[in-house]
Amino acid sequence: MNAPNETLISAAPAQAAPALEVRDLAKAYGETRVVDGLSFAIPRGTCFGLLGPNGAGKTTTLRMCLGLVEPGSGSINLLGHPVPLDARTARVRVGVVPQQDNIDPDFTVEENLLVYARYFGMTSKQARERVPYLLDFANLETKRDARIQTLSGGMKRRLTLARALVNDPDLVFLDEPTTGLDPQARHLIWERLRRLMAAGKTLLLTTHFMDEAERLCDQLAIIDHGRKIAEGSPRELVAAHIEPEVVEVYGDGAGAWMQGLGERAHQLASRIEQSGETVFCYTREPALVLEDLGHHRDLRYMRRPANLEDVFIKFTGRELRD
Ligand code: ADP
Repeated sequence: MNAPNETLISAAPAQAAPALEVRDLAKAYGETRVVDGLSFAIPRGTCFGLLGPNGAGKTTTLRMCLGLVEPGSGSINLLGHPVPLDARTARVRVGVVPQQDNIDPDFTVEENLLVYARYFGMTSKQARERVPYLLDFANLETKRDARIQTLSGGMKRRLTLARALVNDPDLVFLDEPTTGLDPQARHLIWERLRRLMAAGKTLLLTTHFMDEAERLCDQLAIIDHGRKIAEGSPRELVAAHIEPEVVEVYGDGAGAWMQGLGERAHQLASRIEQSGETVFCYTREPALVLEDLGHHRDLRYMRRPANLEDVFIKFTGRELRD
Protein backbone atom coordinates (compact mmCIF):
# COMPACT_ATOMS: atom_id res chain seq x y z
CA MET A 1 0.00 0.00 0.00
CA ASN A 2 1.40 3.37 -0.96
CA ALA A 3 1.43 6.24 1.47
CA PRO A 4 -1.20 8.80 0.44
CA ASN A 5 0.21 11.87 -1.19
CA GLU A 6 0.46 14.27 1.75
CA THR A 7 0.62 17.30 -0.52
CA LEU A 8 -3.09 16.87 -1.10
CA ILE A 9 -3.83 17.50 2.57
CA SER A 10 -3.45 21.22 2.96
CA ALA A 11 -2.00 22.36 6.26
CA ALA A 12 -4.72 23.72 8.53
CA PRO A 13 -4.26 27.41 9.35
CA ALA A 14 -2.32 27.88 12.58
CA GLN A 15 -4.43 30.28 14.60
CA ALA A 16 -4.81 30.81 18.27
CA ALA A 17 -8.61 30.73 18.22
CA PRO A 18 -10.10 27.30 18.91
CA ALA A 19 -11.47 25.34 15.96
CA LEU A 20 -14.70 24.89 17.90
CA GLU A 21 -15.90 26.68 21.00
CA VAL A 22 -19.14 25.80 22.73
CA ARG A 23 -20.48 27.79 25.69
CA ASP A 24 -23.40 26.93 27.94
CA LEU A 25 -25.06 24.92 25.21
CA ALA A 26 -28.49 23.55 26.06
CA LYS A 27 -31.27 21.71 24.26
CA ALA A 28 -34.51 20.22 25.53
CA TYR A 29 -36.92 17.88 23.80
CA GLY A 30 -40.24 18.30 25.61
CA GLU A 31 -39.45 18.27 29.32
CA THR A 32 -36.13 16.45 28.89
CA ARG A 33 -32.90 18.44 28.81
CA VAL A 34 -30.74 16.33 26.54
CA VAL A 35 -27.90 18.88 26.53
CA ASP A 36 -27.68 20.89 29.71
CA GLY A 37 -25.13 23.70 29.93
CA LEU A 38 -22.25 22.16 28.02
CA SER A 39 -19.03 24.14 27.43
CA PHE A 40 -15.78 23.06 25.77
CA ALA A 41 -13.17 24.35 23.36
CA ILE A 42 -11.06 22.43 20.86
CA PRO A 43 -7.66 23.92 20.03
CA ARG A 44 -6.73 23.66 16.37
CA GLY A 45 -4.77 20.60 15.36
CA THR A 46 -5.91 18.50 18.31
CA CYS A 47 -8.32 15.61 18.78
CA PHE A 48 -11.13 16.16 21.29
CA GLY A 49 -13.27 13.27 22.49
CA LEU A 50 -16.86 13.46 23.62
CA LEU A 51 -17.57 10.34 25.67
CA GLY A 52 -20.80 9.34 27.29
CA PRO A 53 -23.25 6.44 27.62
CA ASN A 54 -26.09 6.01 25.13
CA GLY A 55 -28.47 8.94 25.34
CA ALA A 56 -25.91 11.23 27.01
CA GLY A 57 -26.44 13.90 24.35
CA LYS A 58 -23.34 13.44 22.18
CA THR A 59 -25.02 13.26 18.78
CA THR A 60 -27.36 16.14 19.61
CA THR A 61 -24.31 18.21 20.57
CA LEU A 62 -22.54 17.37 17.30
CA ARG A 63 -25.66 18.21 15.31
CA MET A 64 -26.04 21.55 17.07
CA CYS A 65 -22.38 22.35 16.37
CA LEU A 66 -22.98 21.66 12.69
CA GLY A 67 -26.07 23.86 12.60
CA LEU A 68 -28.35 20.89 11.92
CA VAL A 69 -30.28 21.16 15.20
CA GLU A 70 -31.32 24.51 16.64
CA PRO A 71 -29.79 25.05 20.12
CA GLY A 72 -32.15 25.94 22.95
CA SER A 73 -29.56 28.35 24.33
CA GLY A 74 -25.83 28.94 24.47
CA SER A 75 -23.27 29.86 21.85
CA ILE A 76 -21.27 27.92 19.26
CA ASN A 77 -18.33 29.21 17.27
CA LEU A 78 -17.22 26.87 14.49
CA LEU A 79 -14.00 27.82 12.69
CA GLY A 80 -14.60 31.46 13.47
CA HIS A 81 -18.27 31.47 12.47
CA PRO A 82 -21.26 31.73 14.79
CA VAL A 83 -23.57 28.71 14.52
CA PRO A 84 -26.37 28.33 13.60
CA LEU A 85 -26.31 31.83 12.07
CA ASP A 86 -23.35 31.24 9.80
CA ALA A 87 -23.32 27.44 9.80
CA ARG A 88 -23.33 27.07 6.02
CA THR A 89 -20.14 29.06 5.64
CA ALA A 90 -18.46 27.17 8.50
CA ARG A 91 -19.45 23.79 7.09
CA VAL A 92 -17.47 24.41 3.90
CA ARG A 93 -14.33 23.74 6.01
CA VAL A 94 -15.81 20.81 7.96
CA GLY A 95 -16.00 17.07 7.22
CA VAL A 96 -18.53 14.75 8.82
CA VAL A 97 -18.36 11.00 9.39
CA PRO A 98 -21.86 10.14 10.66
CA GLN A 99 -22.66 7.25 12.96
CA GLN A 100 -24.38 5.30 10.17
CA ASP A 101 -22.71 4.99 6.78
CA ASN A 102 -25.01 6.82 4.38
CA ILE A 103 -23.20 6.24 1.13
CA ASP A 104 -25.38 5.86 -1.94
CA PRO A 105 -25.83 2.15 -2.79
CA ASP A 106 -26.72 2.97 -6.41
CA PHE A 107 -23.32 4.48 -7.17
CA THR A 108 -19.82 3.07 -7.37
CA VAL A 109 -17.11 4.04 -4.89
CA GLU A 110 -15.74 6.74 -7.18
CA GLU A 111 -19.18 8.07 -8.08
CA ASN A 112 -19.98 8.47 -4.38
CA LEU A 113 -16.93 10.70 -3.98
CA LEU A 114 -17.70 12.73 -7.12
CA VAL A 115 -21.34 13.29 -6.20
CA TYR A 116 -20.40 14.42 -2.70
CA ALA A 117 -17.84 16.86 -4.09
CA ARG A 118 -20.65 18.66 -5.91
CA TYR A 119 -22.24 19.63 -2.58
CA PHE A 120 -19.12 21.66 -1.92
CA GLY A 121 -19.31 23.40 -5.27
CA MET A 122 -16.23 21.63 -6.60
CA THR A 123 -15.98 21.41 -10.38
CA SER A 124 -15.93 18.02 -11.99
CA LYS A 125 -12.23 18.51 -12.79
CA GLN A 126 -11.35 19.44 -9.19
CA ALA A 127 -13.27 16.45 -7.90
CA ARG A 128 -11.63 14.04 -10.34
CA GLU A 129 -8.21 15.32 -9.40
CA ARG A 130 -8.91 14.64 -5.74
CA VAL A 131 -10.28 11.12 -6.17
CA PRO A 132 -6.92 9.27 -6.42
CA TYR A 133 -5.77 10.83 -3.15
CA LEU A 134 -9.05 9.93 -1.42
CA LEU A 135 -9.00 6.34 -2.72
CA ASP A 136 -5.41 6.00 -1.59
CA PHE A 137 -6.20 7.48 1.83
CA ALA A 138 -9.06 4.99 2.23
CA ASN A 139 -6.96 2.10 0.87
CA LEU A 140 -9.68 1.57 -1.76
CA GLU A 141 -7.69 2.09 -4.96
CA THR A 142 -8.70 -1.33 -6.26
CA LYS A 143 -12.36 -0.70 -5.46
CA ARG A 144 -12.77 2.45 -7.53
CA ASP A 145 -15.50 0.98 -9.77
CA ALA A 146 -16.98 -1.38 -7.18
CA ARG A 147 -20.64 -1.29 -6.21
CA ILE A 148 -21.27 -0.39 -2.58
CA GLN A 149 -22.98 -3.69 -1.72
CA THR A 150 -19.78 -5.54 -2.57
CA LEU A 151 -17.77 -3.64 0.08
CA SER A 152 -17.05 -4.97 3.57
CA GLY A 153 -18.10 -2.96 6.64
CA GLY A 154 -14.54 -1.68 7.05
CA MET A 155 -14.38 -0.57 3.41
CA LYS A 156 -17.69 1.29 3.68
CA ARG A 157 -16.46 3.03 6.80
CA ARG A 158 -13.23 4.05 5.05
CA LEU A 159 -15.21 5.33 2.09
CA THR A 160 -17.34 7.41 4.45
CA LEU A 161 -14.13 8.82 5.96
CA ALA A 162 -12.67 9.53 2.51
CA ARG A 163 -15.88 11.23 1.47
CA ALA A 164 -15.70 13.48 4.54
CA LEU A 165 -12.30 14.65 3.27
CA VAL A 166 -13.51 15.57 -0.20
CA ASN A 167 -13.42 19.29 0.64
CA ASP A 168 -10.05 19.07 2.47
CA PRO A 169 -11.68 20.14 5.75
CA ASP A 170 -9.89 21.82 8.69
CA LEU A 171 -12.13 20.09 11.24
CA VAL A 172 -13.59 16.58 11.00
CA PHE A 173 -16.55 15.42 13.10
CA LEU A 174 -16.43 11.67 13.70
CA ASP A 175 -19.49 10.10 15.31
CA GLU A 176 -18.44 6.62 16.50
CA PRO A 177 -16.16 6.04 13.50
CA THR A 178 -15.18 2.45 14.33
CA THR A 179 -18.38 0.99 15.80
CA GLY A 180 -19.06 -2.43 14.25
CA LEU A 181 -15.57 -2.86 12.80
CA ASP A 182 -13.16 -5.72 13.43
CA PRO A 183 -9.80 -4.99 15.12
CA GLN A 184 -7.86 -4.84 11.84
CA ALA A 185 -10.29 -2.37 10.34
CA ARG A 186 -10.23 -0.23 13.50
CA HIS A 187 -6.44 -0.07 13.47
CA LEU A 188 -6.43 1.12 9.87
CA ILE A 189 -8.95 3.88 10.66
CA TRP A 190 -6.88 4.94 13.70
CA GLU A 191 -3.76 5.12 11.57
CA ARG A 192 -5.56 7.32 9.06
CA LEU A 193 -6.93 9.60 11.77
CA ARG A 194 -3.41 10.00 13.16
CA ARG A 195 -2.28 10.96 9.70
CA LEU A 196 -4.92 13.70 9.60
CA MET A 197 -3.76 14.96 13.00
CA ALA A 198 -0.16 14.98 11.80
CA ALA A 199 -1.30 17.23 8.96
CA GLY A 200 -2.70 19.68 11.54
CA LYS A 201 -6.38 18.81 11.18
CA THR A 202 -8.70 19.11 14.15
CA LEU A 203 -10.86 16.12 15.09
CA LEU A 204 -14.00 15.91 17.20
CA LEU A 205 -14.65 12.28 18.06
CA THR A 206 -17.46 10.50 19.83
CA THR A 207 -16.83 6.90 20.74
CA HIS A 208 -17.89 4.10 23.05
CA PHE A 209 -14.42 2.63 22.92
CA MET A 210 -12.22 3.86 25.71
CA ASP A 211 -9.11 2.41 24.12
CA GLU A 212 -9.90 4.44 21.02
CA ALA A 213 -10.28 7.62 23.06
CA GLU A 214 -7.12 6.84 25.00
CA ARG A 215 -5.13 6.39 21.78
CA LEU A 216 -6.45 9.32 19.79
CA CYS A 217 -7.69 12.10 22.05
CA ASP A 218 -5.52 14.93 23.34
CA GLN A 219 -8.39 16.08 25.55
CA LEU A 220 -11.78 14.64 26.25
CA ALA A 221 -14.97 15.37 28.09
CA ILE A 222 -17.13 12.72 29.72
CA ILE A 223 -20.76 13.74 29.53
CA ASP A 224 -23.90 12.25 30.99
CA HIS A 225 -27.46 13.53 30.94
CA GLY A 226 -26.22 16.38 28.76
CA ARG A 227 -23.73 17.65 31.36
CA LYS A 228 -19.98 17.55 31.43
CA ILE A 229 -18.80 15.53 34.42
CA ALA A 230 -15.06 15.42 33.76
CA GLU A 231 -12.57 16.87 31.32
CA GLY A 232 -8.85 16.43 30.70
CA SER A 233 -6.33 14.35 28.81
CA PRO A 234 -6.84 10.59 29.15
CA ARG A 235 -3.75 10.40 31.34
CA GLU A 236 -4.85 13.29 33.57
CA LEU A 237 -8.29 11.78 34.05
CA VAL A 238 -6.90 8.40 35.08
CA ALA A 239 -4.36 9.99 37.42
CA ALA A 240 -6.90 12.33 39.02
CA HIS A 241 -9.88 10.04 39.48
CA ILE A 242 -8.79 6.41 39.80
CA GLU A 243 -6.50 4.38 41.99
CA PRO A 244 -3.51 3.39 39.84
CA GLU A 245 -3.97 -0.40 39.99
CA VAL A 246 -6.89 -2.71 39.42
CA VAL A 247 -7.22 -6.38 40.26
CA GLU A 248 -10.11 -8.05 38.41
CA VAL A 249 -11.41 -11.29 39.91
CA TYR A 250 -13.53 -13.45 37.60
CA GLY A 251 -15.81 -16.39 37.58
CA ASP A 252 -18.22 -18.33 39.75
CA GLY A 253 -16.55 -17.82 43.09
CA ALA A 254 -15.73 -14.10 42.66
CA GLY A 255 -18.95 -12.74 44.21
CA ALA A 256 -18.73 -15.13 47.17
CA TRP A 257 -15.09 -14.14 47.71
CA MET A 258 -16.09 -10.48 47.82
CA GLN A 259 -18.94 -11.15 50.25
CA GLY A 260 -16.59 -13.21 52.39
CA LEU A 261 -14.18 -10.29 52.80
CA GLY A 262 -16.69 -8.38 54.95
CA GLU A 263 -15.04 -5.51 56.81
CA ARG A 264 -11.61 -6.61 55.61
CA ALA A 265 -12.50 -5.37 52.13
CA HIS A 266 -11.59 -1.82 53.18
CA GLN A 267 -8.13 -2.92 54.24
CA LEU A 268 -7.44 -4.79 51.01
CA ALA A 269 -8.43 -2.10 48.52
CA SER A 270 -9.77 1.46 48.41
CA ARG A 271 -12.82 0.37 46.42
CA ILE A 272 -14.24 -3.04 45.58
CA GLU A 273 -17.16 -3.31 43.13
CA GLN A 274 -18.95 -6.17 41.45
CA SER A 275 -20.29 -6.07 37.91
CA GLY A 276 -21.82 -9.25 36.55
CA GLU A 277 -19.43 -12.07 37.39
CA THR A 278 -16.39 -9.81 37.82
CA VAL A 279 -15.16 -8.12 41.00
CA PHE A 280 -13.03 -5.01 40.50
CA CYS A 281 -10.56 -4.06 43.25
CA TYR A 282 -9.16 -0.54 42.90
CA THR A 283 -6.04 0.05 44.93
CA ARG A 284 -2.70 1.80 45.36
CA GLU A 285 -1.21 -1.34 46.86
CA PRO A 286 -2.25 -4.51 44.98
CA ALA A 287 0.01 -6.79 47.06
CA LEU A 288 -2.64 -7.11 49.78
CA VAL A 289 -5.38 -8.24 47.40
CA LEU A 290 -3.00 -10.55 45.57
CA GLU A 291 -1.89 -12.14 48.81
CA ASP A 292 -5.49 -12.85 49.78
CA LEU A 293 -6.22 -14.28 46.33
CA GLY A 294 -3.22 -16.57 46.79
CA HIS A 295 -5.36 -18.44 49.35
CA HIS A 296 -8.13 -18.98 46.80
CA ARG A 297 -6.64 -21.14 44.07
CA ASP A 298 -10.06 -21.65 42.45
CA LEU A 299 -10.37 -17.95 41.52
CA ARG A 300 -9.06 -16.44 38.30
CA TYR A 301 -7.75 -12.91 38.44
CA MET A 302 -5.77 -10.30 36.54
CA ARG A 303 -3.80 -7.32 37.74
CA ARG A 304 -3.65 -4.31 35.40
CA PRO A 305 -3.06 -0.55 35.47
CA ALA A 306 -6.20 1.60 35.75
CA ASN A 307 -7.47 2.96 32.45
CA LEU A 308 -9.97 5.37 30.99
CA GLU A 309 -12.76 2.79 31.09
CA ASP A 310 -12.42 2.69 34.89
CA VAL A 311 -12.83 6.47 34.98
CA PHE A 312 -15.82 6.29 32.66
CA ILE A 313 -17.53 3.62 34.76
CA LYS A 314 -16.80 5.51 37.97
CA PHE A 315 -18.59 8.59 36.62
CA THR A 316 -21.41 7.00 34.67
CA GLY A 317 -22.10 3.83 36.68
CA ARG A 318 -22.39 0.21 35.66
CA GLU A 319 -26.08 0.02 34.77
CA LEU A 320 -27.02 -0.67 31.20
CA ARG A 321 -28.17 2.30 29.08
CA ASP A 322 -30.17 1.07 26.11
P1 ADP B 1 -26.03 10.01 22.37
O1 ADP B 1 -25.51 10.43 21.03
O2 ADP B 1 -25.14 10.42 23.50
O3 ADP B 1 -26.40 8.56 22.43
P2 ADP B 1 -28.31 11.62 21.65
O4 ADP B 1 -27.83 13.00 21.51
O5 ADP B 1 -28.56 10.83 20.39
O6 ADP B 1 -27.37 10.83 22.64
O7 ADP B 1 -29.69 11.63 22.44
C1 ADP B 1 -29.85 12.25 23.72
C2 ADP B 1 -31.27 12.11 24.15
O8 ADP B 1 -32.08 12.93 23.32
C3 ADP B 1 -31.83 10.69 24.00
O9 ADP B 1 -32.63 10.44 25.13
C4 ADP B 1 -32.64 10.76 22.75
O10 ADP B 1 -33.70 9.85 22.80
C5 ADP B 1 -33.16 12.19 22.77
N1 ADP B 1 -33.40 12.75 21.43
C6 ADP B 1 -32.47 12.90 20.46
N2 ADP B 1 -33.03 13.46 19.36
C7 ADP B 1 -34.34 13.66 19.66
C8 ADP B 1 -35.46 14.21 18.92
N3 ADP B 1 -35.33 14.68 17.69
N4 ADP B 1 -36.64 14.27 19.56
C9 ADP B 1 -36.78 13.82 20.82
N5 ADP B 1 -35.77 13.29 21.56
C10 ADP B 1 -34.57 13.21 20.99
